Amino acid sequence: MDLIRIKNVEKKYKNGVTAIYDLNLAIEKGSFVFVIGGSGSGKSTLIKMLYREEKPTKGQVIVGGLDVAKLKNKKVYKLRRKLGIVFQDYRLLPKLTVYENVAFALEVIGEKKDSIRIKVLKALEEVGLKNKVHSYPDQLSGGEQQRVAIARAIVNDPKLLLCDEPTGNLDPDRSMEIMKVLEDINKSRGTTIIMATHDKEIVNKMKKQVITLKDGHLVNFKQKGKYDNEAI
Ligand code: ADP
Repeated sequence: MDLIRIKNVEKKYKNGVTAIYDLNLAIEKGSFVFVIGGSGSGKSTLIKMLYREEKPTKGQVIVGGLDVAKLKNKKVYKLRRKLGIVFQDYRLLPKLTVYENVAFALEVIGEKKDSIRIKVLKALEEVGLKNKVHSYPDQLSGGEQQRVAIARAIVNDPKLLLCDEPTGNLDPDRSMEIMKVLEDINKSRGTTIIMATHDKEIVNKMKKQVITLKDGHLVNFKQKGKYDNEAI
């Protein structure tokens, strides 16, 4: 079963730059997919179209049966509930504790306190931070902050986890810790993970599926791919 289908998608920004040309892709449920390519190749644009931060100028983006570009603004929440997002710069709320940062999204949708507690502690356990529930973001290392961001992204058990350069600010060891956490989530929850990165070492170590973009064009989509220097 495909979780994502991208059909004849083009994205041209208002300034005339075409970031994605005639893209066709199908991503199966439960996959772990890297999106690689040089700076400006269209990785972020692709990720943004999946959560409706950007709309394609042509073609269709289908996520979990929803035609993303056609969704009315007031229905975008239906899409957002199916996915979690992790950014390079963590984006935690500085005045909230680790627990509160992760609980926040569930409070907003009116979930009961007991159920919030169970889900938040489970998510924090999965990222190895159950002992940091009372800490504030500025008391944590970069790697720990990113793990909180991951816990926040998975706390509502989304089908899809989108990660845009999640290890971009971290050293190689911390980056591998993040990858271990993401791999565990993919295996244990069956969450489909799509991760944009330019970290060659990670891509080559993890042996996951790899989508390679170059100047807005799909170069290839490989099972157990490597970082394809030639293609980039
Ligand atoms: P990557 O994530 O691979 O670095 P991006 O998707 O950010 O690539 O960018 C692809 C191309 O689209 C680049 O040429 C970039 O300058 C352009 N671009 C990205 N965002 C915008 C925007 N909001 N407005 C205009 N051009 C953009």
